[in-house]
Amino acid sequence: FRTGLSKYVFISRALRGESFSRGLSTQAGRLEGKVALITGAASGIGRETATKFINNGAKVVIADIQHQLGQYTAEELGPNASFISCDVTKESDISNAIDYTVSKHSKLDIMYNNAGVACKTAPSIVDLDLAVFDRVMDINVRGVIAGIKHASRVMIPQRTGSILCTSSVTGLMGGLSQHTYSVSKCAIIGIVKSLAAELCKYGIRVNCISPFAIATPLSVHEMCRLFPGIDGQRVIEIVQNSGALEGAICEESDVANAALYLASDEAKYVSGHNLVVDGGFTTFKSFGFPAPDAVKN
Ligand code: NAD
Repeated sequence: FRTGLSKYVFISRALRGESFSRGLSTQAGRLEGKVALITGAASGIGRETATKFINNGAKVVIADIQHQLGQYTAEELGPNASFISCDVTKESDISNAIDYTVSKHSKLDIMYNNAGVACKTAPSIVDLDLAVFDRVMDINVRGVIAGIKHASRVMIPQRTGSILCTSSVTGLMGGLSQHTYSVSKCAIIGIVKSLAAELCKYGIRVNCISPFAIATPLSVHEMCRLFPGIDGQRVIEIVQNSGALEGAICEESDVANAALYLASDEAKYVSGHNLVVDGGFTTFKSFGFPAPDAVKN
């Protein structure tokens, strides 16, 4: 099942000299004794974050709609990982995933609402497909709200917890992606502010991370739709060459490191924050994404 576009991510990792199987650290970590639930963790950013959390002492429940890949990921990450099938558009699935986590590990310290999708590009607002808009909002926005709702149900009586969400640079600046995805990611930043304001009185922190483009199945699929006929490996190179920071590319591990910080006690007084992981991209006028030259060369 590691077929299609996801294989390009693995190829990309191989080109960067990364190992596919990650050994679990036995050192005491920054999340020692913590329990995390991560949606969309069968792949990409969520998978990398699950790995990082486990390597830092956490127990992680992977919740994803991709049953087979989710099971495989949990097996690969070892005994501190488990998988539950979950479609974030179904409130009952989210509620079950939270209940499963608490019944397995007796508590929930970290809820990372990371699952998301990109979508077909409409050339103009005039062409916007509202059925697609509704579907994307269902996953990227309603799924996040449902995750926060059910995590809060457990965290409020605990009087502690860290809730994370994945937004995007496309939620900060117009013109980086099509409207539907941008609007969904902009909404996450609003959700974080609104929920942090309520949940602070229970000792619960709510934050989000806004990454730049990373070559995961989500972004590679979107680019293939934008530029049909371009080879998958070339698409990965375009994504990786579209950043602003000289000498570095944005990777899943950059987001996982941000999530590790926000989830840990090192961020014990950080709430309502949007941690932008973009190498400075959103600080200057955008040249558009991707740079037209990058596609031609
Ligand atoms: P990905 O495709 O590797 O991972 C997304 C995961 O979400 C997949 O495992 C998928 O099965 C899961 N998912 C999709 N719909 C779901 C549903 N209804 N219920 C449960 N799980 C579902 O992509 P990724 O890049 O790792 O994306 C993770 C998050 O990061 C998304 O919210 C995405 O919008 C955001 N993001 C990605 C980028 C990027 O360039 N890759 C940049 C900024 C933000």
